[in-house]
Amino acid sequence: MRRISILGSTGSIGVSTLRLLDETLTVGEDYEIVALTGGRNADLLCEQALKFRPHITVLNDKAQWPLVKDRLAGSGLEVACGDDAIVAAAARPADWVMAAIVGIAGLKPVWAAAGTGATIALANKESLVCCGRALLERVRSAGGRVLPVDSEHNAIFQVLDARQADKVSKLILTASGGPFFGRTREQLRGVTVEQALKHPNWSMGAKITIDSATLANKGLEFIEAAILFDMPPSMIDVVVHPQSVIHSLVEYADGSSLAQLGTPDMRVPISYCLGYPDRVAWDAPKLDLRRVGMLTFFEPDTSAFPMLRLAREALEAGLCGVYNAANEVCVQAFLEKRIDFLQVAEFVEMAMMRAQLPSIASIRHASRDRTVEDMDIALDIDSGVRELVGGFVADARQGA
Ligand code: NAD
Ligand code: MG
Repeated sequence: MRRISILGSTGSIGVSTLRLLDETLTVGEDYEIVALTGGRNADLLCEQALKFRPHITVLNDKAQWPLVKDRLAGSGLEVACGDDAIVAAAARPADWVMAAIVGIAGLKPVWAAAGTGATIALANKESLVCCGRALLERVRSAGGRVLPVDSEHNAIFQVLDARQADKVSKLILTASGGPFFGRTREQLRGVTVEQALKHPNWSMGAKITIDSATLANKGLEFIEAAILFDMPPSMIDVVVHPQSVIHSLVEYADGSSLAQLGTPDMRVPISYCLGYPDRVAWDAPKLDLRRVGMLTFFEPDTSAFPMLRLAREALEAGLCGVYNAANEVCVQAFLEKRIDFLQVAEFVEMAMMRAQLPSIASIRHASRDRTVEDMDIALDIDSGVRELVGGFVADARQGA
């Protein structure tokens, strides 16, 4: 019986993963759930726990904790609360772990899971961006492996022929362009949170949806691709493809480009990770090219959407953790209507510039291999940048 843990089970990816498990396998026969963890949604976490009967159920939020304790009392299920309990749950032996907590909050749990030798289905791109090489090394040395859940990286993983890795000439990431595709910088002034939350193709958590609107998501994915596939930034390209049918491509030196196509449903890449190296036969939504009709492609507009340019610069300058932390703070501030849409990229750029000043060199990780060596360094950089960018946000509020 396979042992499965889902970190972030109440989020968009977590729910899709449980749905897929439910549709394809039988709990208690084919698999057992070791851990389910959630942030704040106590009701959903309890519902999941009662249905899937994990060995341990953990909620992060202390305020909602009494709800979980009451509702699961007498169920015979082990329950716990808080950051440390999530990390401890993630460290429990499992065969397959879905890492689907959003943001740098996912780093400690995935780091703990990485040390167990489990296969990590990695959705939490922020942890890869902030200390990916160290994380991959930790997984490898514990005897595990990382399978990319992010649809673009999953697509590349599916068509990348490891035996021909030296013949790869380019990785091409596709981007939907988000809800504001085609707008000029001027036309982005004053766009609202509600508009930014309306993604044309994908249904996802709030943070990644805003990241898709600013193109920070593609910026993070650009860095993610460089780290996961060990490719220099010059060999990674981004093309806007509004239909989100081609999920990404690998271009080979002989002129062949291989792509993976599918309907935009995260259960498809999740199922690939679940079955790997085999494919799972399930009632997946199939692609009907006649209905799709036309596929189009465009150059990304980096003057309207600077986050893509900034990601490339961050990767080249060893500032990926700065880029990520500054973006997380700004996305939260934008969601809370404390800053404007355009200020997200402005503050991230300011943070990257400030991080290069000798006076705060501690938040710049100048490592030659473009990533930090350890989780603690990544977390130090993160908290330094949060303080810095928190100041930008507060100043913007006062000036407003
Ligand atoms: P989401 O916001 O829907 O869910 C996030 C999960 O993390 C929830 O279970 C939430 O309760 C939990 N969480 C949030 N803060 C927490 C904290 N401080 N401590 C513990 N748990 C916490 O997000 P999502 O859309 O499912 O995305 C999850 C990750 O997967 C992100 O890193 C995202 O970039 C990546 N990803 C998502 C998609 C998608 O389609 N949703 C696609 C590709 C990659
Ligand atoms: Mg993606």
